[in-house]
Amino acid sequence: MASLTLRFVARTDMGLRRSSNQDSGYASARLIAVADGMGGAAAGDLASATAMNIVRTLDRDHDDDPRTAVMQAVRDANRRLGEIASVDPSVDGMGTTLEAMLWTGDHFVTAHIGDSRAYRLRAGEFTQLSHDHTFVQSLVDEGKLTLEEARVHPHRSLLLRVLLGRPDNEPDIGKLEGQAGDRYLLCSDGLTDMVADPDIADALAIDDLDAAADRLIELALAGGGLDNVTVVIGELVDGDGAVDAKAEGSEAQLVGAAAERPRRRPQAAETTATIAPVDPEEVRYSYVPPRRLGWLRYAVVAGLVLALVVVSAIALYQWSQRQYYVGVNDKNVAIFRGVPGHVPLVSLHTVVKRTDIPLNSLIYDARQSVSAGIDVVDVADGERRIAELSRDLVKDKPTPSPKPSASLTSEPATP
Ligand code: CA
Repeated sequence: MASLTLRFVARTDMGLRRSSNQDSGYASARLIAVADGMGGAAAGDLASATAMNIVRTLDRDHDDDPRTAVMQAVRDANRRLGEIASVDPSVDGMGTTLEAMLWTGDHFVTAHIGDSRAYRLRAGEFTQLSHDHTFVQSLVDEGKLTLEEARVHPHRSLLLRVLLGRPDNEPDIGKLEGQAGDRYLLCSDGLTDMVADPDIADALAIDDLDAAADRLIELALAGGGLDNVTVVIGELVDGDGAVDAKAEGSEAQLVGAAAERPRRRPQAAETTATIAPVDPEEVRYSYVPPRRLGWLRYAVVAGLVLALVVVSAIALYQWSQRQYYVGVNDKNVAIFRGVPGHVPLVSLHTVVKRTDIPLNSLIYDARQSVSAGIDVVDVADGERRIAELSRDLVKDKPTPSPKPSASLTSEPATP
């Protein structure tokens, strides 16, 4: 059996509406891969480039088990994203899709997470190999949505799984047998959202590999070019074909954010600013990163606490002004509205009725009670309590005193 060799090409384009390219692509005789970053202007680039630069280390001889190597590389990429986000909260929530196929010389090991796709063209038959980790795909799987409806669904870009630097999102790892003549296309959603499958199949069938890749990019731009678009094609050829591949140049190709030189269109920035003020990549994943508005949250909480304190103080003051007690005013017994005690700047009580009964004339216990303040329901209740106190006074005194009730003199409240 003749050994199979992978011919390859990688192309990316920023598209017509975006101001940066957050896709990364890689192609070599061993590895083809696409990563589509998300999480805002800087973070999307960083996420896809970080993941790609780790995953492309798979492009080496494998004495180890290739499947284990792929799983480890994806895990390393994911962990690295988590490390970056942990030291730079401004990129927390960034993530990337990953579509990778490692050719072992005998079969492919595949890795897939997110909504970038893998297709195969084999003897004229065009097949989607990957299964989108998207909300709409889950609805299609449940029979709640047709593929046609999914294509135009408002939440079609919402991802259920993506590399985010957290342990919970695992990629699909698979094994794939290859045949001579197979063509494999890995692409970001910038292609599949813009171009229908039959047109992708036609372009992929173009004889010349570079021409096929160019055509796919052209179709994506013609279809609207709303997103970054990346296409990576690998073609299995028998051993003789490897000579051609060498002639075309067997240098690995790294494109997009990972190449650190995204192709920029000068007019695209302006277009983006006016047409897409909200970057849809920010809301692709159901997870919403915390906003950098901590100070506003604190201010709102502080304001609420302050309001609560003020309202409570007012309520407490109003309550206090419905209380009455018998206490001491100017060494004489008196009836007060309010509560005993003092708060800076606020008067908690006022005299509503004075008497000419000196505190000193009361028996010891009564004197203590009056000094501390005796709670009463209202003024009349206060008068009754004072009359009782005066009776004690009368009882204790050897000589009769004037009638206590007569000693009460009404006065207007003085603040
Ligand atoms: Ca995209």
